[in-house]
Amino acid sequence: MKYFSLNHNAPEVSFKEAVIQGLASDKGLYFPQIITPLNPVFFNVIENLSHHDIAYDVIHQFIGDEIPEAHLREIIADTLSFDFPVIEVEKDIYSLELFHGPTMAFKDVGARFMSRCLAYFNKDEKDSKNTVLVATSGDTGGAVASGFLGVAGVDVVILYPSGKVSDIQEKQLTTLGKNIKALEVDGVFDDCQDMVKKAFLDESLAHKNLTSANSINIARWLPQMFYFFFAYKALKKLNKPLVFSCPSGNFGNICAGIMAKKLGLPIEHFVASTNVNDTVPRFLASGEYDPKPSKATISNAMDVGNPSNFVRIQELYNNDLAAFEKDFSSYSFTDDKTLEALKQIYNTSGYIAEPHGSVGYLGLKKQLQKHDNAIGVFLETAHPIKFLDVVEPALGITLTIPTQIESVINEEKVSVKISNYEDLKAFLR
Ligand SMILES: *Cc1c(COP(=O)(O)O)cnc(C)c1O
Repeated sequence: MKYFSLNHNAPEVSFKEAVIQGLASDKGLYFPQIITPLNPVFFNVIENLSHHDIAYDVIHQFIGDEIPEAHLREIIADTLSFDFPVIEVEKDIYSLELFHGPTMAFKDVGARFMSRCLAYFNKDEKDSKNTVLVATSGDTGGAVASGFLGVAGVDVVILYPSGKVSDIQEKQLTTLGKNIKALEVDGVFDDCQDMVKKAFLDESLAHKNLTSANSINIARWLPQMFYFFFAYKALKKLNKPLVFSCPSGNFGNICAGIMAKKLGLPIEHFVASTNVNDTVPRFLASGEYDPKPSKATISNAMDVGNPSNFVRIQELYNNDLAAFEKDFSSYSFTDDKTLEALKQIYNTSGYIAEPHGSVGYLGLKKQLQKHDNAIGVFLETAHPIKFLDVVEPALGITLTIPTQIESVINEEKVSVKISNYEDLKAFLR
């Protein structure tokens, strides 16, 4: 499969090159040349297929023959080593739980898949290594650290803002050792992000083969299609239209859902639910795309002012706004509303959500007013324990610490403090 740059000013590349480069040389995001809908027979028999078989059928066209079938199936089995339950929260409203992986965030799926693809592509390059460089405000770093731990030929360097990630998140970044290095930056998330961007453009670091591991990388973005198919498999027997609400930051997750629909998955409508970082809801209201600097909220993994995957969504609709609005809505919610919903969900059903899922729930409820007879699914993108500072006081409960978290919480933190770009360069050299 060939990929082109959405800035249209860089050569087409293979899947392998797109994964290794991350971003095209013209700074555009890569996008597949051809998207072929799946055979309708697939949807007729989906309830008889395993998650691993579904995932293979969904993704293999995007890889072509660049990874042999048997190996791709191994990568998928390794990636999807945990479950994706669909839980009924109230009548006709379901939570698609994406947090049962090793770091308890949905980003585990993309990080595990990407790391294993890179490892495959690196297997014959004995003397060159790739360095994955990521800036994180919380969840991405942990998923990438865990996903890439021990992967041959890949070093991982994670930059995070000192004192601005939760204790659990910090432990997930700093305690693994081996090929994972954590840099604690004296600054905020934007400072980390700026340094990473600068490093990608720095010729003097070209020999480090730097690559990104956020959702701009196709190998992190595309596997996120899988769980929309899994939810469909679970809910198909209800035989009703499906509306999905994704708590959205960089819009990678929802963009994968729209790709799934392009492949033929019968989804009636998508809702991108955001916190007060509302660039996309404002765009739908005014027709003007006007990104703003991000604001801090309690659903901080979605504190994104300029969602990087939105250009991919526009490409999926050929920039046809009317067609887009038929399938897609987007609403923004304040922290107060988010907390209110968190409590309401708990009080009426006993279900413990967390701030991101709660934003997703709010958007879903709003959209369902426009759909008679539909089933709504909101994505629960992290385990409540990851946001215990918000969830415990709001609900007046004490959460039990899951084993995945327990295993890092008592490990010793190892990080290197840096304060500017020169420090980062010195570290990478
Ligand atoms: C990353 C993240 C999101 C946002 O996902 P996007 O694909 O960037 O829109 C939502 N919730 C949690 C918990 C996250 O970590």
